[in-house]
Amino acid sequence: MKYVIALDAGTTSIRAFLYDIEKGIFVHGARQEVESRYPFSGWVEQDANEIYFKAAYVLNDCLMFAKGKAAGIGITNQRETVVLWNRETGEPACPAIVWQCRRTSEFCKNMPREIVKLVRERTGLTNDAYFSASKIKWAIENVPVARELLKEGKLCAGTVDSYLIFKLTGGKVFATDVTNASRTMLYDIHALDYDEELLKFFGIPREILPEVRASDAQFGTANIGGTEIALAGVAGDQQAALIGQAALSEGEGKITYGTGLFLLFHTGEKLIRSESGLLSTIAYQFGGKTVYALEGSMFHAGSAIQWLRDGLEILPSSAESERIALSVPDSGGVSFVPAFTGIGAPHWNSDARGMLCGITRGTTRAHIVRAVLESIACGARELLDCMTKDSNILLKEIKCDGGASQNNFLMQFQANVLGANVNRPKERESTALGAAYLCAMSRGEMSFAEISQRRECEKVFVPSDRAEAKKVYDSYLIAEKRALMHADF
Ligand code: ADP
Repeated sequence: MKYVIALDAGTTSIRAFLYDIEKGIFVHGARQEVESRYPFSGWVEQDANEIYFKAAYVLNDCLMFAKGKAAGIGITNQRETVVLWNRETGEPACPAIVWQCRRTSEFCKNMPREIVKLVRERTGLTNDAYFSASKIKWAIENVPVARELLKEGKLCAGTVDSYLIFKLTGGKVFATDVTNASRTMLYDIHALDYDEELLKFFGIPREILPEVRASDAQFGTANIGGTEIALAGVAGDQQAALIGQAALSEGEGKITYGTGLFLLFHTGEKLIRSESGLLSTIAYQFGGKTVYALEGSMFHAGSAIQWLRDGLEILPSSAESERIALSVPDSGGVSFVPAFTGIGAPHWNSDARGMLCGITRGTTRAHIVRAVLESIACGARELLDCMTKDSNILLKEIKCDGGASQNNFLMQFQANVLGANVNRPKERESTALGAAYLCAMSRGEMSFAEISQRRECEKVFVPSDRAEAKKVYDSYLIAEKRALMHADF
């Protein structure tokens, strides 16, 4: 056997990649866009059937290319998004409720104090609509089909990985992996089991949830267009990127600059409970070992660049932001905060709103573009400061990936504002790479030690001009305070 397939079931697209284990490269890929729907303000839904059919389509494409030489499929996926379905037919009971969906934010805001404390202590998360539990509760209470299925003992509820595993194995396997389970707000990341008190509070019977397996476990046999192939290795997208980036030792971390920004910081077998508003989460579980991470995210990062392009229409393409930002020596006193739908870690304030301040008659689009790019790096700095406080580990280098990590201005400014090296790998698809590694390891085709040997660095950005970056950061923090004040109006 020569290949493994990585299935990356993301929010905007579903992709499958064929990874050549011996050569250590992707040799083929297939992609299908996934549609999101916004039926009401703050709501985000997807069609679970579409997710499954498109996954099967891209997998079939890779299988045809592999010509019988694929050893298995590893799965990585958008996290927190929930699907509810009929255990007998596999039919979804309602549209998938996507991680970005805010329909349960009032409920989460008003959760009793003792439950908020329990959530923090046991799940490492915070009482936010982002996570799965309140979404499942909402569906059980508001979708008659789901309620009926629950009464009949036929309801299944799980994250996207568990739905895909269920469908691809013809309903034989109803399971998820620990990294996905750790994002549900129902899973005790210390005891490594669903928490009875939280299940009771949310009114979610344990029987409707998937069995939780290790990230390197076997997940049954898929049948794709008549071809049988093992499902092996599963992890949520951010955790898979951590593995793909070979950030596998305590104190290593990565930042993904995609639509949002996700910082994951490996804390080893130690579960660090953040005092600064970050999340504690399971990084992965393989070889019988559970490893934890601290996580901080910004809901909007690359999407702020998209806003410049499509909303303000002052940018011809996302990539052009680099040249335009570099056409001015600084942002001319302009500061920006990309809090379009509130601020995630470390403030968790969904009423905060975006802020563009310091505008003068001399402000040009270049200043605004530069300020937006700087705001992404400043947001990451704030998260990293929290990590340092929580872990007492001073980071010397951070690994980067995601679409916006291709922006050299952003990466250089990131190094300046962090005072740490930013290391960009040659292989841009860290998430898929993580899923490929998990699959190859769980099929016995690769060892854990090989992951680090395989990572090739494309460029290291070394800090320079730190004093200037510090000034920009200080202005960002002031602007962020104003963005948070918006919540009081
Ligand atoms: P996702 O996986 O979240 O869909 P990607 O990792 O594909 O995101 O990154 C896409 C995002 O990165 C978009 O929001 C886009 O605006 C941004 N982006 C892509 N290239 C650049 C660039 N060169 N400079 C700045 N932003 C970029």
